[in-house]
Amino acid sequence: MPSYDLQQDVHHGNGTQEAFYDDPSVLYISLHRYDDGNFFPGSGHPNEVGVGAGKGFNVNVGWTGGLEPPMGDAEYLAAFRAVVMPIAHEFSPDVVLVSAGFDAVEGHQPSLGGYTVTAKLFGFLTRQLMSLAGGRVILALEGGHDLKAICDASEACVSALLGMEVEPLSQSLLDQKPCENAVRSLQRVVQIQGEFWQSVRDSATTVDLSYLQAQRHRFRRDSDSEAVNAIASLSMGSLTSER
Ligand SMILES: [Zn+2]
Repeated sequence: MPSYDLQQDVHHGNGTQEAFYDDPSVLYISLHRYDDGNFFPGSGHPNEVGVGAGKGFNVNVGWTGGLEPPMGDAEYLAAFRAVVMPIAHEFSPDVVLVSAGFDAVEGHQPSLGGYTVTAKLFGFLTRQLMSLAGGRVILALEGGHDLKAICDASEACVSALLGMEVEPLSQSLLDQKPCENAVRSLQRVVQIQGEFWQSVRDSATTVDLSYLQAQRHRFRRDSDSEAVNAIASLSMGSLTSER
């Protein structure tokens, strides 16, 4: 049964990566602070893509750039939009397992992550994951060091799982572009994983956009290809009537 394991702890999930490194039936995606190998545990380079039959089924979104600025909601939104969700949809899992570590949530001191993702955003991202695998999404709480952050983020995720109304994201967040260090980190992942996933190749030109800009971009692309299809079917029609 193809399953998809998402690791969202601020630290790389080195054990899970190792367990499925040669296994094409498990797609493993990890979002973590990496800093070119200088953040604990030091593994999780985007070049680590799997081995043998498992090649391309290990995806490391390793953030590099320290805390200048710390990665936050805009950066995680961009990662989900440009890398995580496209690959996950293309893989089309039967079940989604989330290693729900909440030390990327605001309130953790720099040595423990220092990122500023909000609890609310984790609820929003959980909702996005529910578009996969017919909604079969399982979260396992596995990390976090600040009790308030763990509590708030867990509550937001459970609310999302229960299908409760989630507070919409603010306009300023939807308009915010990911920071330059995040764009560079994501471009590296897109370049490496583009070899394995068509959907990620499509992201190459949009990683630096805000959520709303990317939405408009996709809308334009979709309506362009609809127009192309319409013209193609028209000319097909005229060809057949000429016969
Ligand atoms: Zn951690």
